[in-house]
Amino acid sequence: MSIVTFPKTDVAKEPAPQQKKIVVTVDGPAASGKGTLARKIAERLGYAYLDTGALYRAVALAALEMGSDPSKIRDVKPAIDIVLRNLTMELLASPALRRPEVSEAASKVAALPEVRQALLDFQRDFAENPPGDVGGAVLDGRDIGTVVCPDADVKFFITANPEARAQRRLKELQWHHPLMTLEKVLADMLHRDQRDSGRELAPTYPADDAYLFDTTKLSAEEVLDSAIYTVQKKLINATNENK
Ligand code: C5P
Repeated sequence: MSIVTFPKTDVAKEPAPQQKKIVVTVDGPAASGKGTLARKIAERLGYAYLDTGALYRAVALAALEMGSDPSKIRDVKPAIDIVLRNLTMELLASPALRRPEVSEAASKVAALPEVRQALLDFQRDFAENPPGDVGGAVLDGRDIGTVVCPDADVKFFITANPEARAQRRLKELQWHHPLMTLEKVLADMLHRDQRDSGRELAPTYPADDAYLFDTTKLSAEEVLDSAIYTVQKKLINATNENK
């Protein structure tokens, strides 16, 4: 009878190799359909989802509630601290963040380098270590594919003509703001687009390797199907290349 001895390592205690999480980014201007698309991609693939615009909105709302000027960093600093200390997914889903004055203030706080820097770590950490036992993360915003996650696996940039975007935004706002007009929504949106695309730091523009979608005449389902097809094709190609 032979005696077999095993090395004294406990295999069960060795940590399982960490699977790299897939990162999908969806950037684009206001009301382009990027939020709906990003949320749906996450739902279909079972990934975690982060609306990064809600982070800037949360800082803006906190600043407004403190009576601060959203374009002055000295005023906004306490709001950043409050938001980072109390950040939850529930806070980011709060309907108060969607108010038109918060949209305007969000675009102002987003132009401050200190605000962008303070929110960067949270966004990157979410992408690398998404909450829950999921295979990846989908983040939507303005600079996710260019600045926050430049090495993302798949990047999308979503556009639509301004009139189509204003119509969509008006529909969202009509319940709480019945007196809002298309002209006012369009004017506010163009003003915000200009500030978001014209700022020095992390302006809104497509990454070189982003897939572009114009959603003006496409239904949400058509865009979603193409996006899912693109992600799956990209992942299959990457798996084959690694074989
Ligand atoms: O996407 P949403 O319209 O909710 O974003 C609100 C504002 O937050 C934008 O107008 C933009 O100024 C800012 N933002 C940003 N970078 C992101 C997401 C949003 O500058 N990644």
